[in-house]
Amino acid sequence: MADSKTAVITGSTSGIGLGIARILAQAGCLVVLNGFGEPQAIEAERRKIEEEFGTTCHHSPADMTKPAEIAAMMAEAEERFGSIDILVNNAGIQFVSPVEEFPLDKWDAIIAINLSSAFHTVRAAVPGMKRRGWGRIINIASAHALVASPYKSAYVAAKHGIAGLTKSVALELATTGVTCNAICPGYVWTPLVERQIPDTMAARKMTKEQVIEEVMLKAQPTKQFVTIDEVASLAAYLASDAAKGMTGSILSLDGGWTAA
Ligand code: NAD
Repeated sequence: MADSKTAVITGSTSGIGLGIARILAQAGCLVVLNGFGEPQAIEAERRKIEEEFGTTCHHSPADMTKPAEIAAMMAEAEERFGSIDILVNNAGIQFVSPVEEFPLDKWDAIIAINLSSAFHTVRAAVPGMKRRGWGRIINIASAHALVASPYKSAYVAAKHGIAGLTKSVALELATTGVTCNAICPGYVWTPLVERQIPDTMAARKMTKEQVIEEVMLKAQPTKQFVTIDEVASLAAYLASDAAKGMTGSILSLDGGWTAA
């Protein structure tokens, strides 16, 4: 697929983003990781990707709430690797609370990281992609881009927003060789999901087992979590030449959740 194409994946020090970074590295991409975490753990993942897949992997600590840091990350990637061919907007956080108690700083952070950061990266990546006549923009949305759940007002608003951004960008770029699509996973077992269990337990007055069975997997007819590898495989397909006819698509990968 990706004869030394460069892929920037936001929020890729963990979970789905790391899975996507690894599958794109395996396909031959130069990879820019982004995200937070223990410096030693990030360096270990970075080195592992280089050694396992024989590619070059760089880590940017840019904070996706800060437009200037996002712009600097994108400029540095282009300068270091010569192009950004594949952009995966994956960084995301969650916060669970009744709307009338929703903390203002959490609302702002979720909108910034889960939605606005994708606007900033797309804005920076598109000129080069258009010039080269090839590009892949993949937005990791959520089943919550299509349907809502209570207590997740900011997340649902941001994810519905990213579906709209995906379609608009796809239409603008339709004749340029650059595609833009969104993947909408259901519940994937990652640190993000694990972290929201205590808050959901509190908001809904449930045990951990009840949250998993009656909230998370209740929505998923397969009664199984989606896996990181399943999401990464779909991203790898969207990044390939074979997917050139697919743009503006909002793709569910949710164990049947949104079929109901
Ligand atoms: P995760 O918590 O494992 O990973 C999130 C990543 O984002 C980490 O690398 C973290 O460091 C990074 N990040 C957080 N804040 C950041 C910031 N300000 N700047 C830069 N990086 C930042 O989460 P995950 O479950 O892998 O989720 C990844 C994406 O998939 C998110 O957009 C999430 O909404 C979406 N998603 C997840 C699920 C799920 O069930 N896990 C379902 C649907 C959609």
